[in-house]
Amino acid sequence: MDFTEEQIHRYARHILLPEVGGTGQARLLGARVLVVGAGGLGSPLVLYLAAAGVGTIGVIDADVVDLSNLQRQILHTTERIGMTKVDSAAAAVAAINPGVRLETHTERLTAANALELIGAYDLVADGSDNFPTRFLINDACHLLGKTLVSAAVLRFDGQLSTFRTHQGGPCYRCLYPEPPPEGSVPTCAEAGVLGAVVGTMGSLQATEVIKELLGIGRSMAGRLLICDALAGGFREVRLKPDPACPLCGTQPTITDLSLHADQAEGSVCAG
Ligand SMILES: [Zn+2]
Repeated sequence: MDFTEEQIHRYARHILLPEVGGTGQARLLGARVLVVGAGGLGSPLVLYLAAAGVGTIGVIDADVVDLSNLQRQILHTTERIGMTKVDSAAAAVAAINPGVRLETHTERLTAANALELIGAYDLVADGSDNFPTRFLINDACHLLGKTLVSAAVLRFDGQLSTFRTHQGGPCYRCLYPEPPPEGSVPTCAEAGVLGAVVGTMGSLQATEVIKELLGIGRSMAGRLLICDALAGGFREVRLKPDPACPLCGTQPTITDLSLHADQAEGSVCAG
């Protein structure tokens, strides 16, 4: 790939890295990443992926920007309250890097559209904040053989992992076989979340997305990173594939997305 003068200048700090170089930068420019949710996690994800020159970024979110989002969703601005989040994301991306394409999907991810949408991308970053969507993404990524970089936040806590079942890694259901009963785990809207913690986890997620695209470093597949921001530290838990996993185990009972079809639509992907 031949870079323009502008691209060489823009991506100079990447190209300097031996692990990235011109080849890696070209790979990023050719990559297609789907970000689910243009909220708290989606904000640093979209901003860093766009700045990094990830050539095509899909964003799916059915919501509009609300004043209460701005405490953590740094993709959006006071001026853009009332605009759809995907259009606000498009405005932010165009301002940072007009050389990348943002594909906007103003809808919710459902059992009906998940396979087609996710199938059109190389990799998925989950920035949703509700369990039905999280499990739907996990199941669709496994069925399609796509890598999923997943993060979650609540209060001062965060977690992050990468799921690559097509390369023998565990999936989200190996960790949590099924969604918790509705109402048993509070949402950020109920329990609160520190905005900067969401930014920390979303930025780590963007780093892992870029590592997966480039095939560099040590993947987070098989590892769960847990952040306790109040204590000021991280710890890591090893994750193994569960042979009894209903999705990726030896005798899977989930072979399509039909169990998601009648599920109530998840709450807003605010992150
Ligand atoms: Zn599994």
